[in-house]
Amino acid sequence: MGQSKNGKLQGKVAAITGGGGVLCGHFARTLAMQGVSVAVLDLNLESAQAVVDSILATGGEAKAYKANVLEKEVMKQVAATVLADYGPCDILINGAGGNHPAGTTSEPFFDAGQVEAPDIKSFFDLEVDGVDFVFKLNFLGTLIPTQAFAKQMLGREGSTVLNISSMNAFTPLTKIPAYSGAKAAISNFTQWLAVHFSKTGIRVNAMAPGFFLTQQNERLLLNPDGSLTARGNQIIEQTPLGKFGKPGDLDSTLLWLCDPSSSFITGVVVPIDGGFSAYSGV
Ligand code: NAD
Repeated sequence: MGQSKNGKLQGKVAAITGGGGVLCGHFARTLAMQGVSVAVLDLNLESAQAVVDSILATGGEAKAYKANVLEKEVMKQVAATVLADYGPCDILINGAGGNHPAGTTSEPFFDAGQVEAPDIKSFFDLEVDGVDFVFKLNFLGTLIPTQAFAKQMLGREGSTVLNISSMNAFTPLTKIPAYSGAKAAISNFTQWLAVHFSKTGIRVNAMAPGFFLTQQNERLLLNPDGSLTARGNQIIEQTPLGKFGKPGDLDSTLLWLCDPSSSFITGVVVPIDGGFSAYSGV
């Protein structure tokens, strides 16, 4: 459900990386509904433009920018273009992120028989390039855009950086060591940067979404007929509220953390997870 307009963010400028994706595209629309001018950044310009079109169609203000979060010079150029288009950035959401099969084991637990099994991807088969890809995309993909945009935010009270962590950051999920480690790095970096920027007026926080059905995880969680996979079922059983999240479930936290009146909140990583991280399973 959309949040009603409260005027607190009217006229602000937001830059959102991964803004063409499911969750960050939703964040872009939610902020635009609050009167924020939104720079939608994505590697995939078409998906960023589709988000922008949906915002323009409802009377909001947004522009799409092609930007790879791993290319520092490109990010600096895009930040300069956004500055010229809208003025200094007030809100940076570091949303680009994801996993890669090459950094993922096929089985949750190891046994010695897996070493010679051709159809099993064991711990010993993890590919360095795949792990490197996931660490770079998530961690450097948060650090580099922050370097590019935070210069505009220095000394501007009420400005904020919002990173996207994950449940994996608290306790790693089986099979995905690279993604878990990379998201843990984002939580850690959120705390580090909150302290580092504490004298600048920039607050730094993170949201840690639980399990939301998106392009990235749909095939892991749902069978083609729409029923739950074994892993999807495990997640639902471990989620006390008994369901996957919907993007709109993140809105209240998004607006709360971006709200300039949340001026004493910095360095927090907020789980929005239906109770997943609170539940031991017993
Ligand atoms: P998504 O795949 O829908 O969106 C990710 C977007 O990032 C895509 O549009 C993609 O083009 C873009 N992107 C990928 N590499 C990029 C790069 N190098 N530079 C710029 N853009 C790039 O994913 P989503 O589920 O909406 O996830 C958004 C964020 O939320 C990610 O950081 C993800 O790890 C995190 N997250 C998702 C869930 C979930 O359940 N979906 C849970 C916790 C955290």
